[in-house]
Amino acid sequence: MEMNDSFGRKLNYLRISVTDRCNLRCRYCMPPGGVPFIPHDEVLSFEEILRLGRIMAGLGVNRLRLTGGEPLVRKGVVGFAEKLSKIDGIEFMGLTTNGVLLEEMAPALYAAGVNGLNISLDSTDPARYAALTGFNKLERVMRGLHRALELPFLSVRVNCVLSGQSILDDWLGVVALAKTLPVDVRLIEWMPMGGEDSGRLVRAAGALAAIEERYGAPQPAASPAGQGPATYYSLPGFTGRLGIIPAMSHSFCAACNRIRLTATGELKLCLFYDTGMALKPLLRGGASDGDIRAAVLGAVAQKPARHQGRKLASEDGCNTNTIDRPCAMVKIGG
Ligand code: SAM
Repeated sequence: MEMNDSFGRKLNYLRISVTDRCNLRCRYCMPPGGVPFIPHDEVLSFEEILRLGRIMAGLGVNRLRLTGGEPLVRKGVVGFAEKLSKIDGIEFMGLTTNGVLLEEMAPALYAAGVNGLNISLDSTDPARYAALTGFNKLERVMRGLHRALELPFLSVRVNCVLSGQSILDDWLGVVALAKTLPVDVRLIEWMPMGGEDSGRLVRAAGALAAIEERYGAPQPAASPAGQGPATYYSLPGFTGRLGIIPAMSHSFCAACNRIRLTATGELKLCLFYDTGMALKPLLRGGASDGDIRAAVLGAVAQKPARHQGRKLASEDGCNTNTIDRPCAMVKIGG
């Protein structure tokens, strides 16, 4: 079976946030006052997520990604990942992590069936890393990245956000990891999710110009199959590729194949819209699999055609504010 929205897009990719908790405090991801933690019983149990995973796979979802909060802080996540990866029809399961717990957990994640890792890293300078994340954990993350690269994951990528808190050397330093390591480094335009604004943002075009100046001209490179909205480049003498995700300055909504499940069981259809469906009341209210399937299909029909982003005072490109209730990324999972 295929699950299509009302614009004919095939939705085969589900991102699952397993927790709203995180062991970092990235300034661009959380609002300044932090986010109130959700009580444990409001978070979906692993059994509940597995049930939804089976239902979604029956509807044609074949790619999953675990995220959070920080997915590796949830107790039992490895055993859960193993069960999820064994669901009939699941062909790829990725995990997005800040890498703090990766050194010790990477082998078990690989054994559990995680196929690919995205590691978030916004600076390779220890003091800047601590300033951006609130913690002095860069060395641990680097050890986690190296451990992951020793294992035969299908992909290990580094994601770096071009946030208003970053300085040029933060993300240029992260790009430099691909010089010697066999890792694709992807620069992601910061998305204003929580009602924030910023006047110091670097967008994709500016990033490419700065990269050319520091490392030489980026040349278009082949994109790995099924690897989402990044455009890939090779850089002179680099081992890994550069990826650019112009989340705000370009729209790739026409090819969007994603839906998201939050830790509290909201099915989210677009990062920038509140439209979706609360699945927890169904899961906990005695709904049959058929009821849930029908609810999901009804919800996906509401997937918006495109996000318009939230207008930034400093930018012309994005025209209307479409976020009804601002919601920090840490609560959605990216
Ligand atoms: N804790 C995990 C991690 O750090 O990768 C998973 C959750 S985190 C919310 C997922 C990704 O979203 C990270 O790469 C993070 O940098 C990115 N992110 C957070 N806020 C963002 C924003 N406003 N715009 C773009 N990316 C953002």
